[in-house]
Order: sequence, then structure tokens, then C-alpha cells
Amino acid sequence: MSDMEPSTRKFSLFFLVIIFVTLALAIAAFFQAYDAYNAGQAANGHFFTLIGASGLALLTYMVFQTRRRTLRLAFVPPRITSTVLCQKCGFKNIRDFERGDFIFKKTDDCPKCKEKMSIASVFREVKEKKKKRWI
Ligand SMILES: [Zn+2]
Repeated sequence: MSDMEPSTRKFSLFFLVIIFVTLALAIAAFFQAYDAYNAGQAANGHFFTLIGASGLALLTYMVFQTRRRTLRLAFVPPRITSTVLCQKCGFKNIRDFERGDFIFKKTDDCPKCKEKMSIASVFREVKEKKKKRWI
């Protein structure tokens, strides 16, 4: 929790307040229900039990939704790759994007013909996994 970004932490704090308020209301509703049952008012008891259960269900739903969202954010880092091409022999190498890469930039020597290679293209990989799952 401590290594999260500031914006995420701010949202989490707000979220935690909502969680605690909802939890407090749900617990209060259960106490009201308990009192009502003790007083012999079964109808009121059922009503407050329903409110408390709804609060807990909402709480579970919210926690589940947030967890799923943060997991999704954490597992999809944008991957940028650079294609390094030898103009002489056509040797092609695809590697991760490095800071300062641009198209036509001269890079390492070609492992085949020792000619200077240059970057032919820089692109971001398109995630295809999700689409495949639906087919
Ligand atoms: Zn070459």
C-alpha cells in the first residue's frame, strides 16, 4: 500500500472513509435489528437486518471492484519496441524502446556485416490477448 502513487493513495483514503462509514452504518443497523428483535418487533428487526445485509453486500462489491481495477492497472504496462534494421544486409532486430530512440538513429554495428544499423520503426505493442479470449 505504501508504494502506490500519490493520486492512487488519495483515492484510496477517500475510498477507505466510504468503506468505514458504510461498515459503521451496517453494524448500527444490525444493533438496531437486535434491539428490535429483543423488543418483540420482528418486522422492524427484519427491516434493519435487510439494511445491514445490503450495506455489507455493497461493501464487498466495492472492495472487489477496486481490487480488480488496481490489478488491471498493475498488469498492463505499455510496451514500446524499436526495430533496428541493417540497411546493407537487411538484418532486423526488435528490442525494447530505449530513452532517446528515434527513427533513422544510428545504433550498434550489424552482427553480420559490421555496418552501422539504424532504427527503422518505433511502435507500441497492441494487446491482442483480450480479443482472443472472446473468440
Ligand atoms: Zn548487416
